Amino acid sequence: MHSISRNMNKFNIEDFPHKRYNPLTGEWILVSPHRAKRPWQGQVEKTAQEERPAYDPGCYLCPGNERAGGKRNPNYKGTYVFTNDFSALLSDTPDGNIDEGGLFMANSEKGICKVLCFSENHSLTVPEMSVTEIRKVVDLWCIEFQEIGSRDFINYVQIFENKGAIMGCSNPHPHGQIWASSSVPVEPTKESFTQKTYFEQHGATLLSDYLQAELKKQERLIVQNDSFVALVPFWATWPFETMIISQRPVQNILELNDSEKTGLADIYKKLTIKYDNLFETSFAYSAGLHQAPTDGGDYPGWHLHMHFYPPLLRSATVKKFMVGYEMLATPQRDITAEQAAKRLRELPDIHYKNK
Ligand SMILES: [Zn+2]
Ligand SMILES: [Zn+2]
Repeated sequence: MHSISRNMNKFNIEDFPHKRYNPLTGEWILVSPHRAKRPWQGQVEKTAQEERPAYDPGCYLCPGNERAGGKRNPNYKGTYVFTNDFSALLSDTPDGNIDEGGLFMANSEKGICKVLCFSENHSLTVPEMSVTEIRKVVDLWCIEFQEIGSRDFINYVQIFENKGAIMGCSNPHPHGQIWASSSVPVEPTKESFTQKTYFEQHGATLLSDYLQAELKKQERLIVQNDSFVALVPFWATWPFETMIISQRPVQNILELNDSEKTGLADIYKKLTIKYDNLFETSFAYSAGLHQAPTDGGDYPGWHLHMHFYPPLLRSATVKKFMVGYEMLATPQRDITAEQAAKRLRELPDIHYKNK
């Protein structure tokens, strides 16, 4: 017999399967909290912690080393940026399009791809860097966003970090990327529409109203400082998906003041320490900033934020796959956003390697 005291006839999102709405994309996800109660029989193991040297002669991102294609990195200290030797987008692609009755459509796409080394030190990751060092990464983002975004043929600048072999990241050297394009890509297009609509209806940004509500509820918060809040969004799809949201509604990083830029570096470190501590492993993720398009338009509804999409589920090796129902129908999760936030929030603020 069941011994659950809660009234199991009344719908609640702790016990029953339900759909949650993502107001940023206008899409839904399926949450199955009852399934998180089933026993897990898979293996729980930590990955072997490889100690990396501060300099790797075989790394194409380390200072002084030669890259594929023959260019050589300078003996840089701190950050270093260069145009990707194998760019997915090219600035000299000719204009053009194809449209055969709406069935065969293609448009030319121009763009720029850059690689941003976060540090000369091959062995570091963001949670192991100092706030001062991460602030230099934020400053580089600002310089590049300004420079690339001001080009006539660039209308959107995507800054992101792909971390860990599990995410297909081929090089452990701390680095991120920028892919900038002449059209606004799919995800920011969805968020542009929803944020514009919300702003027109409410006179405030969607994310400032959402953030205020989350600060009251408290249950999905992880860490915060004066300028930013890190939380598990109500509509999170990946098990430990998070967002960093600016406390002040700004359209892009150039609108941040000096202390807010340091605040961004600070929360980037704090959140990624929590991530590493979760399974005591260097936690893999794809993360990136979402900012207003750079097409010259005004976007009062756009609210700067950063998404973290990590695939790990139960341990350093067990990852969530988006397969089956999720490929064919709707993304689904078992552990709820509230449970994930609680676990991350209760972890130590000190990196496990420094314990
Ligand atoms: Zn390196
Ligand atoms: Zn977004």
